[in-house]
Formats: sequence, C-alpha cells, structure tokens
Amino acid sequence: MPELPEVESVRRAIAPVLVGRRFDRVRIYDARLVRPFEPSEVAAELQGERVAAVERRGKYLIVRFESSRVLLIHLRMTGNLLHTPPDSLPDDVHRRAVVTLDNGSDVAYRDVRRFGTWLLLEPGESEPYLATKVGEEPLSERFTAARLAERLRGRRGALKAALLDQRTLAGLGNIYVDEALWRARINPLRPAGSLDPGEVRRLHRGIRAALEHGLARQGSTLRDYRLPDGSSGSAQDEFHVYGRGGEPCDGCGTPIAKTTIAGRSSWFCPDCQPAQAASRSSRRPSRSRRQSSV
Ligand SMILES: [Zn+2]
Repeated sequence: MPELPEVESVRRAIAPVLVGRRFDRVRIYDARLVRPFEPSEVAAELQGERVAAVERRGKYLIVRFESSRVLLIHLRMTGNLLHTPPDSLPDDVHRRAVVTLDNGSDVAYRDVRRFGTWLLLEPGESEPYLATKVGEEPLSERFTAARLAERLRGRRGALKAALLDQRTLAGLGNIYVDEALWRARINPLRPAGSLDPGEVRRLHRGIRAALEHGLARQGSTLRDYRLPDGSSGSAQDEFHVYGRGGEPCDGCGTPIAKTTIAGRSSWFCPDCQPAQAASRSSRRPSRSRRQSSV
C-alpha cells in the first residue's frame, strides 16, 4: 500500500499537471470508486471544476478546486494516476476513471484491487472529515518528540499497532513503521505507552528519517505503485528490515526476524531491537544480562 512517501511523491508529480487546469470531461467507470454515490452524477459534478491546489494529509490526496470544493483521493492498495498527452491513453482493463483536462491531456486512475476511493466534498466539509480520520503529520514542524509522547501515553497495545493507526500519526504504514522502529532500535511489540523519554526521542528521529529517506527516493516500488509519468521510486533497494527476513542486519549482522503484529507481516532485528528495553547504562546489553531482565 502506498504510504506517506509514495503519496507525497505522487502529489509532487501531479500538482503541476493539475493546478490551474479545468476538469473538462470526467468519466468514472467503476461504481466502487465513488459509492454510495452514482458515478455519472459525481462525474457531472466534477466537470467544469478548476484546480486551485493539490495537497496531502496522511495517505489522502486533496484536490482543492477554486469553488472551494475538494476531491479526496485515497489510493489504498493499488491505486495510481497516469498523466498522458491528448488522445494517447493506452488500453487498460484496470482503468477506473479518466479526467480530461482543458489542455486536452488525460489523467487516468488505475486500480487493480479496487479499494481506492474518490470522495467529492462541499466547501467546509474536508477539514472535519479528515480530522476524524488522520492524526499528526509526522513531517510537519509541529510534530515534536513531546507530541509523539502524548500520542503514545497510556497505550497498552503493541507499539507497531499504535503507529499503524492513522489517528496516531498520519501516513505511516507497514513498511515505514518497520524501518522507523529499526532506526530507533525499539522492538515493535513493546507496549506503546512503555517508552522512556530517550526512546521516544529515538523513535521520533527514526520516523522522520525513514520517511525522508523514502521521499528522497520518490517512494518504494511495491505492487502497483507508479508515479504519474509511469516511473517508480527506488527506496525498496535500501530497506533495512522490511521484507528482509533471514538476511543479516545492517547494524549487527544478526538475521532479521519476521513475525505477525496486528495482522501484518513485520520484520525487526532481534539483537538491535530487543523485546525488553535496554537499560540506560548499556544500550547493547549482553545476551545474559538481557535474559536476566526478562
Ligand atoms: Zn541488528
């Protein structure tokens, strides 16, 4: 599933295509994309709208129109956008919608698994809607270690599950949570509320570093993620733990372990990310000390 770095990479690529352009013709081929609304009605509503801005909140793309209406696009598992010159769209059985812009070019929405959604909201509706769906933006300047500590305080569930919850932080998914926890040297099964202040600071840095790393490589190419020009990112070549079960840890050489947390495959280093918090006097306790503290 595209996560923050992938959706932000799509936003950066599609914004210059859309901003200032009018939706001349809209075709929606799949009722699931806009349900419970009628595809033909949504298409008719979108026609004539001119794009003022393309923003992002968590994994949502926000197409803001000059009318102050908003089209919220969620790519879910396999959604992607393709921008093509006039009259040059290739055939595609997985195409769910096409927007023809006032310069004749097309933006096509493709979605193999069909979990993606397009939601047209009236002026003033998008902020309250998003406020119920997504929490803090982890790359915003307002997101500090103290804010992260507040979000985790008192939570007894596994840290990984808390970080996957979009209302904790917006935009993290399975890949970047595993990568962030490896960078922070914290075990994904630790109770979310059990981190000491030093661990919260490490986690805060780890989250931002993992996301920035993915963003710098325009996201990772997994499943059907594509940028609007048909290209894809390269972050997957440099994952430290995600998908690397049995391979040596980049930090210590220990084989990466795989387990299931909150129903999701999860990878971590059993040595760098011990199940029990390391004592402050020794970040890398010996095997015997760690066992005695369990
Ligand atoms: Zn390690």
